[in-house]
Amino acid sequence: SGTSTGSPKLRAELDGIPTYKPGKPAAAGGPVAFKLSSNENPYPPLPGVMESVVGAAETFNRYPDMACTALTQELADRFGVPASHIATGTGSVGIAQSLIQSTSGPGDEVIYAWRSFEAYPIITRISGATSVQVPLTEGEVHDLDAMAEAITDRTRLIFVCNPNNPTGTAVRRAELERFLDRVPSDVLVVIDEAYREFVRDTEVPDGIELYRNRPNVAVLRTFSKAYGLAGLRVGFAVAHEPVAAALRKTAVPFGVSQLAQDAAVASLRAEDELLGRVGSLVAERERVHAGLVAQGWTVADTQANFVWLRLGERTMDFAAECERHGVVVRPFAGEGVRVTIGESEANDLFLKAAEGFR
Ligand code: PMP
Repeated sequence: SGTSTGSPKLRAELDGIPTYKPGKPAAAGGPVAFKLSSNENPYPPLPGVMESVVGAAETFNRYPDMACTALTQELADRFGVPASHIATGTGSVGIAQSLIQSTSGPGDEVIYAWRSFEAYPIITRISGATSVQVPLTEGEVHDLDAMAEAITDRTRLIFVCNPNNPTGTAVRRAELERFLDRVPSDVLVVIDEAYREFVRDTEVPDGIELYRNRPNVAVLRTFSKAYGLAGLRVGFAVAHEPVAAALRKTAVPFGVSQLAQDAAVASLRAEDELLGRVGSLVAERERVHAGLVAQGWTVADTQANFVWLRLGERTMDFAAECERHGVVVRPFAGEGVRVTIGESEANDLFLKAAEGFR
């Protein structure tokens, strides 16, 4: 005993799970000048946000405030919810993982649309639960009727990604409320609103309004997109107490650095300026969308900071063509390409690549 040459035993659930793939970077000094592959914000942090973290290095020998007290209170005030209903985490993907871990294990089912955010199948399998993927409609929108019909006794959690990554499409209030009415109260519905601040369709509901009188609804938000803090890894959930408390239990201890907490608070206080930038990105989105339509492409309505082109077999060729034009995009082989709205110069390069490819 103790002398075998085998490998440590790992959980069977991990077999065959692909490692999460980050968007391809723009090669420094290479032909690819702009990264439009990860739905990041092209603007650098605001001066006030940078100032808020200038002295932070001096405290790196100390652990951060584990309860994220200031950030939690700022969020509670902003949304008019009790602080006990806020849970912060290592990006919203960290919170999504905790939500699955808190609700689901082997034998349980997690429902979500497909295609959607590529982390959902990975974090579901890590928990040992089973993914139930419900295809999007022809119009690339969540098929909420089919999702309701997919609910079984084993369903523990349902993700509704609104707007949806990578299609940018969003579900509207009436259909989402009708869906929520059909979900049993012991099934958690997670409305993932990573791109909420880019929504302009007033029929698309604010998940936090839906959460207020529905104990089984949790909302995920992030500082990575509109707030431009992707590199700092901070997101939050708004959920009723048992769920929020479970999130606090299952979170990685000290998962949100003090740097991230301070920058997030400063960003909330600079919200007017940040949302002004979001407005510019939305204007660019409309320009890119209209440009693609004028070129003859069929593009789904997008409410996020990216556009989706369904290209099927031509996907990888199109991505290569974009790189020749200096932009790196996000291809999903055999399906389509997701292109982040970036600087107008980058968007122009993308439009040029699309025009030539058409
Ligand atoms: N949800 C969705 C729908 C996303 O697209 C992303 C980022 N790609 C995330 C969550 C995770 O973002 P973060 O962990 O940076 O908050």
